[in-house]
Formats: sequence, structure tokens, C-alpha cells
Amino acid sequence: MYGMNYTADEKAKWDKLIGMIEETLANSGQRPVFNVFIKPLKLYAVTRDTLYISGDNAFNLNHMKQRYSTMLYSTVPVVFGRRYELEFYPESEIERMVERQDTSSLNEKYTFENFIVGQSNNLAFATSLAVAQTPGDAYNPLFIYGGVGLGKTHLINAIGNYIVRENPRMNVLLMTSEAMTNALIEGIARKKTSELRNKLRNADVLMVDDVQFLSKTKATQEEFFHTFNSLHDNKKQIIIASDRPPKELPEIEERLRSRFEWGLTVDIQKPDYETRAAILRQKAEEMGVDVPADVIDYIAQSVNSNIRELEGCLTNLNAHAELTKAPISLELARTALAGRILEKAARAVTPQVIIEVIARQYDLEPADLTGKKRSQDIALPRQIAMYLCRRMTSLSTTDIGRAFGGRDHTTVLHGCDKVSGAMEADFAFRKKVEELMGFVENC
Ligand code: ADP
Ligand code: MG
Repeated sequence: MYGMNYTADEKAKWDKLIGMIEETLANSGQRPVFNVFIKPLKLYAVTRDTLYISGDNAFNLNHMKQRYSTMLYSTVPVVFGRRYELEFYPESEIERMVERQDTSSLNEKYTFENFIVGQSNNLAFATSLAVAQTPGDAYNPLFIYGGVGLGKTHLINAIGNYIVRENPRMNVLLMTSEAMTNALIEGIARKKTSELRNKLRNADVLMVDDVQFLSKTKATQEEFFHTFNSLHDNKKQIIIASDRPPKELPEIEERLRSRFEWGLTVDIQKPDYETRAAILRQKAEEMGVDVPADVIDYIAQSVNSNIRELEGCLTNLNAHAELTKAPISLELARTALAGRILEKAARAVTPQVIIEVIARQYDLEPADLTGKKRSQDIALPRQIAMYLCRRMTSLSTTDIGRAFGGRDHTTVLHGCDKVSGAMEADFAFRKKVEELMGFVENC
């Protein structure tokens, strides 16, 4: 664990959580309990899945865990919007304990078995599985990229877990590029860079997560470059995850970037409705809660980009149900998720909004897009607008056709197919369409 252990936002959330518990306990006449067992708790660090919390001493912590940790657990999702594991250690031990569980290891809960495959991620899934089955052989390096919360970290952990299960003697190393940078800086400071170097070069499989955060300093990039070469020469598997393709990582030296493209580059896109619903159903099952179909549908319709956000809705909803002792229903979902979902509903995307935004971007009039002209300079923006209506609203193709001056639904389908085909074939075009989607979302 290096440097800052949590963000200001996480700290603010933690304070809020303690405040909520204080209120609950005080309202039920248990202020002394709060003062003795809860108040001394301090947030020490936040990692991918865990809040590390320190307390005064082991005795009080044990008692606290037995009596009050359920309360902490169920309040965490209300404030943080997702579940975390909670680890408690006495103040005198916490630094050592956290250090021992450093970030360079696999997260066992991410597997291929619990990764839902849909159109948005089937290529990434298939290549990941191929790499897991023949590490160092199939595609080297494997470069996976995609937006926040779309499953990159899940997939690379799945690869790692699979390899370790099949080949227990293989040395699989997963590091975020930040951890790698920090370890290197630490090594330089203590004049012990060889330790990290050996660790990296002894890997049979090296996975670097979030490579976009690799430090631009020469020393870090140089070290990674030599590690890459050494592993690659020895047919050791390298897997890299990033939020964008290699070409769009200007901070990374050209010679490294070009190596990233030596193997195979695959992306993960935003999940479609079916995938979102399937993920929600699976997460509900994992959590052991019954979520009615209309609630799944409501969340899948309302949250359409980030899978972490989908999960967040579910945990939040579940926490509300537990706190209020009410069954999960559409009504409860509407109340519980009001803060997260209403803002979006309030400025619901309509075909009119999309048509206006696209017209503006292409220097056209809205009437051009809904009108009859079929020249190329109008036809393409019109098809893009139709595509966005399909992606961003829940309207049927018939309704969309109606919004575009009474066109037939097959015309809408054709337009959408053309755009999605072009997006697959042409990365720059896809970026353009995604950018337009952003304009619509933010207008
Ligand atoms: P990223 O690293 O791309 O930001 P993560 O891998 O951390 O995203 O995924 C965010 C959350 O969404 C994780 O809890 C992960 O398990 C879940 N998730 C993402 N994609 C899928 C999927 N296809 N099936 C099941 N869960 C998924
Ligand atoms: Mg990630």
C-alpha cells in the first residue's frame, strides 16, 4: 500500500456512513455504544473490493464485529453505492496487515463462469479464454480495452484464475500500472529496483491493468519496455487492459505502444439491453435475493452504460429492502434508486433531442433529418440519429420511423445496421458516434 490510501470522495462517504450509524444508534438510545465501538473506527484504506478499517484495540473490535458489523455492511452500499468487504484491524497492526494483502494478486471472485457473454463482449471473452487455455501461445500480448466498468478487470482476473487452476505452478502476476509505478519508485528510493525487476521477469503470465495510468516517467516506461521484451522473447504471456486502444495512449512511448499491438487487440463495448438484464439476474442470484422481472427490466432500461453502476443499483436496492424490511418491488426500486435514476429520467432522451443535437453537429436543420432529401450529406447524419434513437431511447423502430417524418420501420433498421456495421469496421467513426452520444447525454 503506497501513498494515499483513499480518495477525498471515499473519505467523505465514510464520514457520512459513520454519521448515519450514529444517528440510528442515538435514536434508539444507544449513544454509549456508538461512542465506545463505532466512533473510534477510522478508514485506513480502500482497495478494489475492501474497506480497511482501524479501531482502538482488538477486544473492542471483536465485540464490534460480533454485534454491529452487519449494520456497517448493510449501510455501506447505501452510501458507497456498492458492496465492499470490510476488514478490521487494531490501529497498531493495520499498516502491516494491509501491506501483506498488496494489490498484486488475483481476485478469485472474477471468473469466466460468472462473466455474462453478449454481443458487446463476446470477442473479448473468446480471446481471453483462448489465452487462458494456451498462455504464451495464442495471442501475445493480448490487449483488452473498453470504457469504465465494462468488465476488463473481471476478464483479466478470469484469465489469471483459470491459468492458476489449470497450471498451479505457473507464476501469474497481476498488477495495476499504478502499483507497478509505485513499486518502481519505491525500489529506486531504496536502491532495490532489482527486486521488482526479478519479480516481473520471473512471471509466466504478466497482467497489467489500467495501463493508461502507467507513469510517463522515463524510468518506469524503460523498465516496462525491457520487461516486456524479456517476457515476450521467452514466450511468457502478457495481458494488458486499458480504457482506450494503444494508438490513443500518447503518454506511452511509441516503441512500447507498437509492441502492445504485436498480438491481438480486442475491445469491450457497452452492453445491450439483453446483456444488462442477464447480468442483473446473475448478480441478484449471487447475492441470493429475489428480484422480480419488472424490477430487472426497470434497472436494465434506466442504466445503460456502466456495469458497475448496474450492480450498484442492485446492491443499493437490496440494502434499502433490508433496512426497511420491505420486499423488493418496482415501487421500492423507484424510491430507492430515485437519486441515481431520476436525474436521467428528468432529461429523458427523446428523438427530438437527438435530431436537434445531430442537426447542430452536422450544420443541418432538424427538418433536413426528418425530411425527404436523400443526399449523402443528409442521409448519414439521419442514419446516425436513428441509430442513437435505437440505442438511447426505448422506442420501437416503428416509433422511431414516425419521429423521422413517418418512415417505415425497415428503413430505421437498415439505417441502424449501416451505422453499427461502420462502427465495427472503423474505429474513428465509432469514436465519432460515441462522442455524439455524449453530446446527446449532456445536452
Ligand atoms: P472495468 O475494469 O472495465 O472498469 P470491471 O471488470 O471492474 O470493469 O467490472 C465492473 C463490475 O461489473 C464488476 O463487478 C464485474 O464483475 C461486473 N461485470 C462486468 N462485465 C460483466 C459481465 N459480462 N458479466 C458479469 N459481470 C460483469
Ligand atoms: Mg478495471
